[in-house]
Amino acid sequence: MAINNLKTRLFAAFKGPVSVSLQRPSEILEPPCTRWILLRGPAIGSPSHRGTLLVEAKSILSWAQAHAKGVWSSDADRQSARERLPHWIEEAIEEDESVTIPSAELLDVLQPYDEDFIEKATVRLWCPDCLLTHSRVTRGSRADQLIGKSSLWVSEWRCPEGHLVHSESNEIRWIIR
Ligand SMILES: [Zn+2]
Repeated sequence: MAINNLKTRLFAAFKGPVSVSLQRPSEILEPPCTRWILLRGPAIGSPSHRGTLLVEAKSILSWAQAHAKGVWSSDADRQSARERLPHWIEEAIEEDESVTIPSAELLDVLQPYDEDFIEKATVRLWCPDCLLTHSRVTRGSRADQLIGKSSLWVSEWRCPEGHLVHSESNEIRWIIR
């Protein structure tokens, strides 16, 4: 009886059209995009990043449009974020120079392409040693060690003054026949 009463109350409260789309909370709470998107850095819990990497929203718009059309994921949340991204960027308030921290879902779409953005988009790097924001990031990689059939490669990002702002080990396995 109590459950029936609750159902009646819920349906009575629901006066919207039946076709209303049920948006997930992250879609509702997505912050408006400003000129700069925070992509990597200690502020968003990237432990291997000492520096903070920003990317200019409009400089990745055409990438985001192509990415939404050209890549498909069976993960509904990821797919939804990928399709939402270009619209979010299109509405960016360019004159607002503040930095936007995207939702975790949008970061999941953006972060794997951070090195492409460093090469091809407009980025800014805040270096904790210079205490300055730079418009260039130097990428490099070096072999670290060889263990059995695996090599460890370390990829590094440096500010133009040479300060190390990020390093990450990647294991490469060699298949020897
Ligand atoms: Zn520096």
